[in-house]
Amino acid sequence: MKRFTESVFTDLKYRLVGAGAIVGLLLPFVLLLSGVPASAALRWTAFLTLSAAGAAAGWAAQRLSARMVRAELQGVVGRMREIEEGFREASFNRDWSACGAESCGLTVAGDDEVGHLAEAYNALVDEVVNAHKMEAASSELTETLSTKLEIEALCRAAIELILGQTGATAGCVLVREESELRVAANHGLSDVSQLPQSDHVRRALDTRQVQIVRIPRDIALEGVVTSFKPRQVLVVPICYESQALGAVIVASDAMLGKDAMWLVRQFQQGMGLALNNAVTHARLQRIAAIDPLTGVLNRRFGMRRLHEEFQGAMRQGTQLGVVMFDIDHFKNVNDTYGHLAGDRVLAETARRAQCALRETDVLLRYGGEEFVVIVPGAGEAALIKVGERVRLAVAAAPVCDGGQEIPVTVSVGIGQMQGRDDKEESILKRADEALYAAKEGGRNCTVCHGRTVAQQLEATPTA
Ligand code: GH3
Ligand code: MG
Ligand code: MG
Repeated sequence: MKRFTESVFTDLKYRLVGAGAIVGLLLPFVLLLSGVPASAALRWTAFLTLSAAGAAAGWAAQRLSARMVRAELQGVVGRMREIEEGFREASFNRDWSACGAESCGLTVAGDDEVGHLAEAYNALVDEVVNAHKMEAASSELTETLSTKLEIEALCRAAIELILGQTGATAGCVLVREESELRVAANHGLSDVSQLPQSDHVRRALDTRQVQIVRIPRDIALEGVVTSFKPRQVLVVPICYESQALGAVIVASDAMLGKDAMWLVRQFQQGMGLALNNAVTHARLQRIAAIDPLTGVLNRRFGMRRLHEEFQGAMRQGTQLGVVMFDIDHFKNVNDTYGHLAGDRVLAETARRAQCALRETDVLLRYGGEEFVVIVPGAGEAALIKVGERVRLAVAAAPVCDGGQEIPVTVSVGIGQMQGRDDKEESILKRADEALYAAKEGGRNCTVCHGRTVAQQLEATPTA
């Protein structure tokens, strides 16, 4: 309807007063039709009073309706302002958890236009709050993922986040390392060791598309008593540029909704970048930690590892020792066969020593032709065994280099952790002194507590 002024109530006043006056002007003719004599009905005073009465009735109707509707609308406007304030706060704190249909909605008082307005407004609020919640969830995902540089920590955080945000029941992260997939984190999936071979995972990695599987054969959830099948599983490939870095499996015992699927897509992008960073970081760490000539840990990272093992042993009250060994007369090797041949002897010595060790022992290059083995959990007897195994493995055969046979031996010193107030440096110092004694004692032997192993065996009473 055409507007005359800026206020709908003023327009309404003009229309009602005008309509009332017109009705008042028409009334004398109605009176005439109903039998009132023309001399009485069509007098100018009748026209005047009836149109004035009609205008007054129109004015009263406008006042009444404006009062009622205005009160309703002012209530709605006031509530909207409160909601706006709540939105501003939620936006500032980036926390939309307090904004729901009840807390940020209007009361629908009746089935009229004001009620419909409230309903439409509530639907709009729902959409806005949901969009904000999703955006907040998505940025939390990206932020958390981008702060994790260690692969394991990243994968654990990733699975917790995606399960928390989608409401899924269980999941795991598979990471591709040296073309092999391995499970880097798992939450609630049973028997994950077979998952790297799963057809769904292979298809997800080949096609780079999310695979949605209903009641899969090869994926089960851990139950209290037994495992059970999820209702829906998403296999999400994690890619960076053209490379598939791994996959995330999200299993749910209910079907995931539209919002959850949107979050999974956001997660997929953030995780691609984060996993690429973590894999690169791990590769750089490995490069930085490894001595390029021998392929074993360098001194800096080796000492860091000794510190970790020492702390662990102190905490758990377990034993710890080091085996230090040094190539005998290595200067002569360099002088006789050349520096390059010396390098090969060094690398071969490290390889032989590594072969003589268990997986839990840590070999590091301590200096030029000096190595240290960190042996967690080992007492004196075990340390001597390790030292002797290394010594014999190195001396077993000469190193062949360009048709020449270079005999190699090492001298070995043992250092053992003593008591709970011991220090890492003290253990190394003991090993160093023992190694010095081994050199003094004629080389190609193992010394522990100032005595060579042969002397030790003599001193040990036979059972
Ligand atoms: P000892 O039996 O007393 O240990 O005698 P040694 O000759 O082994 O000991 P010395 O400390 O006199 O000499 C160590 C030599 O090792 C000197 C150094 O040039 C050589 N060396 C250290 N690092 C390397 C390396 O990376 N490559 C080669 N080829 N030689 C190295
Ligand atoms: Mg030497
Ligand atoms: Mg030396």
